[in-house]
Amino acid sequence: MGLKERLAELREEGLQEIKDSEDLKKINQVRVKMLGKKGPITNVLRGMRDLSAEERPKVGQFANKVRDELTAAIENKRAELEQAAMDAELEAETIDVTLPGTPVAQGEPHVIQQIIDQVVDLFVSMGYEVAVGDEVEQEVYNFEKLNLPKDHPARDMQDTFYVTPSVLMRTQTSPMQARMLEKHDFSQGPLKMISPGKVYRRDTDDATHSHQFNQIEGMVVGKHITMADLKGTLKVVAQSLFGDKLDVRLRPSYFPFTEPSVEADITCFNCMGKGCAICKHTGWIEVLGAGMVHPNVLRMSGVDPEEFGGFAFGLGPDRFAMLKYGVTDIRNFYQNDVRFLTQFDRKG
Ligand SMILES: [Zn+2]
Repeated sequence: MGLKERLAELREEGLQEIKDSEDLKKINQVRVKMLGKKGPITNVLRGMRDLSAEERPKVGQFANKVRDELTAAIENKRAELEQAAMDAELEAETIDVTLPGTPVAQGEPHVIQQIIDQVVDLFVSMGYEVAVGDEVEQEVYNFEKLNLPKDHPARDMQDTFYVTPSVLMRTQTSPMQARMLEKHDFSQGPLKMISPGKVYRRDTDDATHSHQFNQIEGMVVGKHITMADLKGTLKVVAQSLFGDKLDVRLRPSYFPFTEPSVEADITCFNCMGKGCAICKHTGWIEVLGAGMVHPNVLRMSGVDPEEFGGFAFGLGPDRFAMLKYGVTDIRNFYQNDVRFLTQFDRKG
């Protein structure tokens, strides 16, 4: 058989194999087999050196034609198979838009945050400004300027995390009292502020103690502000949080930064004063500490206690939440068990 006939035969054989290829793997094999360095066409071309000078270009030309033809056929077939593969993939991945979606759990503010928001909204509606402050605080603002000099026994009431000897994790939100008193321009009217935030104590965590908890501090300083204003304000807070039939009573107490100091009790919302387990059968529940701002506190922040005075109070949203929802272990609020926390979702 002459080379030309052999080439024609390879051409037919190749075209048939290309036509019969069913996938990309197969068409690749055909390409390597027919056109590779060890393939039959290369082999035929090698045999050309035995041809006469007259025949060689003709056969060479024909060999090139066969190779081009097979290359083109392989490329066409490959494109066709790739298209088919993509069509099959798209078919397999078709999305049925009528299927129901996967529900996504939607977040809600934490129950403590809900109480904080409620209290803050209430005070903002009464014209108070919100002062947030830093959780890392200078000792001088956390203690000294609140009438708690070094070695003051009341410091023992608040075991403290110190960052350096003069910097600490604030044990109360009260430092904002001193900071706001220093900044306030009393020629523009009284200072009315509320300061919500996290505070830290070196407590061992148990059912009623947490090393981190929340406080909301409030203060009003101006002219002619009396204890009656304090009581009226506390009543508004208690009634908005626990119900409008509740009464407030004040009992003498002691805090270094107020004089006189009081504990505020509200009517037990569970028994409405009749006596029950929640109020230990007294009919009253202690909810916060308060008092008239100590003259030393005013003086140390550059405010003349002869001219100005006012009241301050601090309440614990954690305790409020425990009372309001009958939660007996404060740790539940901080352990991030969503089964517990989602009970308080407002959307239900
Ligand atoms: Zn009760």
